[in-house]
Amino acid sequence: MSQERKILIVGGGIGGLSLAIGLGRVGIRADLVELQPAWTTAGVGIIQPGNAIRAYQALGVADQCLERGFVYKRQRYFHSDGAVMGERLMPPVDGLELVGHCGIPRPVLQEILVSAATSHGASIRLGVSVASLHDDGAKVDVTFTDSTSGSYDLVVGADGTYSKIRNTVFGDAYKPRFSGQGCWRFTTHKPPEMDYSATFYGPNKAGLIPLTQTLMYMYITTTEPGNPWMPDGRLHELMRERLHGHTGFVAEIRDRIQNPADVVYKPLETILLPPPWYRGRVLLIGDAAHSTTPHHAQGAAMAVEDAVVLSELLAQDGALEPLLDQFMERRWTRCKLVVEASVQVGDWELNPTPTSINDAIALSNHVKTTLAHAF
Ligand SMILES: Cc1cc2nc3c(=O)[nH]c(=O)nc-3n(C[C@H](O)[C@H](O)[C@H](O)COP(=O)(O)OP(=O)(O)OC[C@H]3O[C@@H](n4cnc5c(N)ncnc54)[C@H](O)[C@@H]3O)c2cc1C
Repeated sequence: MSQERKILIVGGGIGGLSLAIGLGRVGIRADLVELQPAWTTAGVGIIQPGNAIRAYQALGVADQCLERGFVYKRQRYFHSDGAVMGERLMPPVDGLELVGHCGIPRPVLQEILVSAATSHGASIRLGVSVASLHDDGAKVDVTFTDSTSGSYDLVVGADGTYSKIRNTVFGDAYKPRFSGQGCWRFTTHKPPEMDYSATFYGPNKAGLIPLTQTLMYMYITTTEPGNPWMPDGRLHELMRERLHGHTGFVAEIRDRIQNPADVVYKPLETILLPPPWYRGRVLLIGDAAHSTTPHHAQGAAMAVEDAVVLSELLAQDGALEPLLDQFMERRWTRCKLVVEASVQVGDWELNPTPTSINDAIALSNHVKTTLAHAF
């Protein structure tokens, strides 16, 4: 590249940090601002499927994730009483030797990403956001909330589902939609022999995801008509209530949920911005452009892939717009598949049919094998 592009990343989540690392690896030291005054993240875990591990490999952080997380190769399905329904092996992913998914505590993943972004030269400021931006066609002038300012070739909004950058640039026509479901998560100790993820089809679908040799989390997805507010102090009772009807191992774990601070609840929301995800010199990536429900565990995976592709393109010389068009060509179909296939599984859970469990498993296989191909 003849001259280093000046890039501002707004948002230090998985997408923004991954982009800062990717840009650093191609010689671009990005500025990143994060609204939160300290690195905090919900103390639960996240599944990083094979295509996400491949993207972390491109960023040079896959080994750390695999060492500090837990790789599992099998997903097992059970009836709510623990009787086995079946199992499948994770499909191989093009360009990745390892086969499997990696469960990892979110604070650990964040620590890995912050450390790599910093060591690749990103300038990170916490507790700072964008106050205003003006795109004059040749550059974007930005004023920050701490009264400093800067001038950039490209501003990347990686500021999540409720993106302020999206509202500023695209107006308020695009709003996240509540899917009708919520997700409850609880981290607990894992039996040493459990080297697979487990899905239990009971009154509410429950799942167990290994995170380390000794930890796993349990999630349930539930129907929550009207998107009710869940009082923090009652989260443990509310999660336990929603596990009513499960027996066996799930019921045993249910009884461990005694402290509201150990439960994380999230309403499940989606947004899929039509292409292109840029206006002039401002682009959206990650949840800001394509926020999905977690039914295929691909939201963060898509944000990391966005970051890898964008870094690769911004390393090239030439005008910005054709590069952003190439970005859209490479990202749109994959992200659209993830959002739409995730919404579909949620809809089947909301309105079950005699075949919906098998349909959901078949769709999940289709998503996994499609995303296993190169991005
Ligand atoms: C219940 C649940 C389970 C999930 N499980 C999985 C899973 O297993 N696997 C998977 O791949 N994905 C999963 N996801 C999806 C995944 O969490 C998201 O897709 C991913 O975190 C998106 O990353 P992001 O960086 O785009 O956005 P975010 O993680 O939302 O990060 C945005 C960042 O921007 C900051 N910010 C916001 N506004 C501003 C502002 N104005 N200025 C500066 N900074 C700002 C925020 O503080 C935040 O740090 C799950 C999601 C949910 C809800």
